[in-house]
Amino acid sequence: MPGTVVLAVGAHPDDVDAFCGGTLALLADRGVPAHVAIATGGEGGVPGEPAERAREIRLAEARRAGELLGAASVEWLGMHDQEAVASRAARARLADHVRRLGANLLLTHPPGDYHADHRAVAELVLAMRIGACAGNLGSEPPLRSAPDLAYVDAAQGLAFEPHVWIDVTATWERKLAALRAHESQRTLGGETELVPLIESLGRLRGDQRGCRYAEAFAGCGTWPTPDGGIRRLVLLAEAGVP
Ligand SMILES: [Zn+2]
Repeated sequence: MPGTVVLAVGAHPDDVDAFCGGTLALLADRGVPAHVAIATGGEGGVPGEPAERAREIRLAEARRAGELLGAASVEWLGMHDQEAVASRAARARLADHVRRLGANLLLTHPPGDYHADHRAVAELVLAMRIGACAGNLGSEPPLRSAPDLAYVDAAQGLAFEPHVWIDVTATWERKLAALRAHESQRTLGGETELVPLIESLGRLRGDQRGCRYAEAFAGCGTWPTPDGGIRRLVLLAEAGVP
């Protein structure tokens, strides 16, 4: 298998850290370039702040979290909270980003997740994965083959059927540190707090796997490599195959 380059695409600045941060840290420890792309600036997540300032705060938090996880880069894709779309322009921008990075393993939200932006990003990545092989989308040379794709867990694990569970006990504390870097997101409205919410998901997936903390993933299930994403993940995270 040629060298893997990972790109995790989240809808909002804290999503990648929340749903696959432990795995990204594990991959980074193994020398795998693990990049983060953030579709929207999460502008709605900082009440009382104007959109531009809210985005600055949240992207700065995401960059700090990325440093803690060992992410190779953290890039904003230029969309806005509640406005994520899988438009041709959005697909072209993401396709060019994937081509420049040489990313061949994509991670993103599952298509049925709770937030409209998450569902839109799932559609964006799935559509871009094939579109990036075409010569008429974006400006960079087309890919020779579609990148592998795996879905990260859904919020609270709801309506998500995992195909693999990655043991992230070794990187769990770094994942929590990355989540705490999202200071503006400590509470998510009402009684819900980000860190305990993700902690309970990590324990649940860990119980299912038979370890202390785990992150769950599912294959994209579509041509041309329906299980390629999860096969790569297991080889990389558990056997250290590059
Ligand atoms: Zn989100």
